[in-house]
Amino acid sequence: MSDKLPRILIIGAGTGGIMVASRLKTIRANVDITIVDPADTHWYQPAWTLVGAGTYDMKKTSKPIADLIPKGVKWVKDEVTGFKPDENKITMKTSGDLEYDYLVVSPGLVMDTSLIEGLTEALGHGVVCSNYTDPEHTWEVLRNFKGGNAIFTQPTTPIKCGGAPQKIAYLAADYIRKKGLADKTNLSFITPGTVIFGVPQVAETLHKVLDRYKMDFKTYYAPVKIDGPNRKITFKNIKPKDGGSEDNRPDEWTMDFDLLHLAPPQTAPKFVKESVLANETGWLDVDINSLQHTKYKNIFGLGDVAAVPTAKTGAAIRKQMPVVIDNILNLIKNNALGNMSYQGYSSCPLVTGYGKMVLAEFNYKNEFTPDPMLKYMLVFDSYKEHWRLWMLKKYGLPYLYWNKMMKGKDV
Ligand SMILES: Cc1cc2nc3c(=O)[nH]c(=O)nc-3n(C[C@H](O)[C@H](O)[C@H](O)COP(=O)(O)OP(=O)(O)OC[C@H]3O[C@@H](n4cnc5c(N)ncnc54)[C@H](O)[C@@H]3O)c2cc1C
Repeated sequence: MSDKLPRILIIGAGTGGIMVASRLKTIRANVDITIVDPADTHWYQPAWTLVGAGTYDMKKTSKPIADLIPKGVKWVKDEVTGFKPDENKITMKTSGDLEYDYLVVSPGLVMDTSLIEGLTEALGHGVVCSNYTDPEHTWEVLRNFKGGNAIFTQPTTPIKCGGAPQKIAYLAADYIRKKGLADKTNLSFITPGTVIFGVPQVAETLHKVLDRYKMDFKTYYAPVKIDGPNRKITFKNIKPKDGGSEDNRPDEWTMDFDLLHLAPPQTAPKFVKESVLANETGWLDVDINSLQHTKYKNIFGLGDVAAVPTAKTGAAIRKQMPVVIDNILNLIKNNALGNMSYQGYSSCPLVTGYGKMVLAEFNYKNEFTPDPMLKYMLVFDSYKEHWRLWMLKKYGLPYLYWNKMMKGKDV
């Protein structure tokens, strides 16, 4: 390498991009950092669940990106349009090419409403809502709900925070109960997935929650069509026939709704999906432990865009970030990767009602891996509902996010 400082280029000033840049600056690494992002605003998306249930102010979920770019880090306010990894360059919409020594790819993911027929027209109108796109609209729909069929669902694609579609289902159920509308309401949580949650201890608690709210729970049904004006949703049975009693389930099934919340289908951004850096499913092809690109050794990826088989969350990024940094710094110094390894940690704060939460923490093997620090909050069984965990979600985590994680400090 020349006597110039190594140039680290970061795509995206979201959770992953800012965390990497801030931590690198905090540990005073002798590097030259540039972030490319066309947006003005950074969003703290985990609080959107609470906004959708009317218990958090949307305004508090954002900050100008300009306020978060760490001192000494350059910001190019432009959109990345492609990669030239053999030349160590990215291409941008208006500013041409930019060269790097190390590239960190963290542009998040995008909603692709075209993957469900009728969704593009229906989403955000009338009673079809999503915390993923407009949580204030969700709250409006919930406030105006007078009883009937309330349906909560999710797509077959990977989604960020896999628990978010059920969190709003539980909050809505609690709200409906408090408003005295439970007797006039049929609640359904319908998923193409196979279980309510992959971690057995947590699933056991969530089944009790479903029972408490008398919420009908169906697996292996994928939403395929939405008729917004007539308030109908069609699901397709995706359960393979196995000779069991469920072989008789209808292949397609249409329901009327008076409230529909769904997570839209989600994919990697087009410039990643259509690039040589993507795997066959379109996500950024990184090694699941080192987060290094499988082909280009000076490229790393983290956050929602990365093809790692764990839940796409900010909590996962908190554990991915040190691995990416350690590996880049070791490559710079020793021309070899560091010793840290990402084991798939992710966490899902499953709010199960106003004032109640379960904290699912797990790894690639879906083993329950609770943070030992929870005992200082007097929480010893975080797979169960706890009011202290709700306080953590509503007050503790937003504070830690803005004041520690975004500033490169240890949490
Ligand atoms: C409703 C909801 C609830 C959630 N709940 C939780 C939770 O409880 N706990 C939790 O940990 N996580 C939760 N998450 C997930 C969490 O918010 C995301 O996993 C996290 O923000 C992903 O970070 P990221 O850096 O990958 O992407 P983002 O934070 O989305 O940032 C991506 C950035 O890249 C930029 N970008 C995009 N395209 C380009 C381009 N072409 N060129 C340059 N820049 C580009 C964007 O402008 C953006 O600033 C939730 C998300 C949602 C929507």
